[in-house]
Amino acid sequence: MIFFFVGGADQAQKPIGVYNNVICPSCGMLTRYEISKTYSYFHLFFIPTFRWNVRYLVTTGCCGNLYELDPEIGRKFERKQNPEIRNEHLRPLSQYVSFKSCSGCRAKVDTGYSFCPYCGQKL
Ligand SMILES: [Zn+2]
Ligand SMILES: [Zn+2]
Repeated sequence: MIFFFVGGADQAQKPIGVYNNVICPSCGMLTRYEISKTYSYFHLFFIPTFRWNVRYLVTTGCCGNLYELDPEIGRKFERKQNPEIRNEHLRPLSQYVSFKSCSGCRAKVDTGYSFCPYCGQKL
């Protein structure tokens, strides 16, 4: 019997809305945030089976800087609860791109992870 395993992990990003009348933390202009949601998902035969690593991203309308939004605020925004988005809810994504090493297996792991994707160690 030949068994084909057609599955894998993928990443998706979808815009969820715009937050108006904010002062850009990067350049000080009156601007708006374009908010999108990204997540990893596992698919099997092209059917997404589960999602993890859900993150909310903010792009400033003025200078195009990218931030990661506090997930609590992101969820509220997605549910149209009109949360106030303050500067402390934003994390510049240049920090996000940096890596840390896992204490369990020493793998280089993206700082966006709470658990090591290789060995499951809490980071
Ligand atoms: Zn700006
Ligand atoms: Zn590890």
